[in-house]
Amino acid sequence: MSYIAPIAKLVEQFRRLPGIGPKSATRLAYHVLKMDKNQAAALAEAIVEAKEKVGYCSVCFDLTDSDPCQICRAEGRDRSVVCVVEDPKDVTAMERTREFRGLYHVLHGALSPLEGVGPDDIRIKELLGRVGQGVQEVIMATNPDVEGEATAMYIAKLLKPLGVKVTRIAHGLPVGGDLEYADEVTLAKALENRREI
Ligand SMILES: [Zn+2]
Repeated sequence: MSYIAPIAKLVEQFRRLPGIGPKSATRLAYHVLKMDKNQAAALAEAIVEAKEKVGYCSVCFDLTDSDPCQICRAEGRDRSVVCVVEDPKDVTAMERTREFRGLYHVLHGALSPLEGVGPDDIRIKELLGRVGQGVQEVIMATNPDVEGEATAMYIAKLLKPLGVKVTRIAHGLPVGGDLEYADEVTLAKALENRREI
């Protein structure tokens, strides 16, 4: 059966979201139709507002509504340590551990020859540019999968000649799993047991 046009349009928009199949898209669309007008408007406004107000920090490339971001601006953070992650969600995961007091650098991906992601496609140049500004240690906290490991090794090779200590968070994280799904204790341990590479 085909939906009337406004419903079809809504279903189509939900289907574009990650992890949403046709069934879920339909369920969400019908849920929105059942909402009262104010609720539906609040949802639409939140989407538009987030898109308008949230951008990338020009220093660490995390998502932020101010530039530089809150973490880059914060006094009392250790500016000699930079933790390199693949995704803004990983910053949130690391912050949840409350163990890390340094700064971050978000790559926005990992090297993947198969998917055509090369060094120029992620924020490696920008990371190299930050080293030398008092950075003494770079912690590679890319995901514990093939791409994450390869990315950590690639960046370590570039950083070493710059005289900075490069470490890799310890294994013990579920292999192939994303950093963002690791629980706080596991992540804190992985950070604590990092090794120089
Ligand atoms: Zn920042």
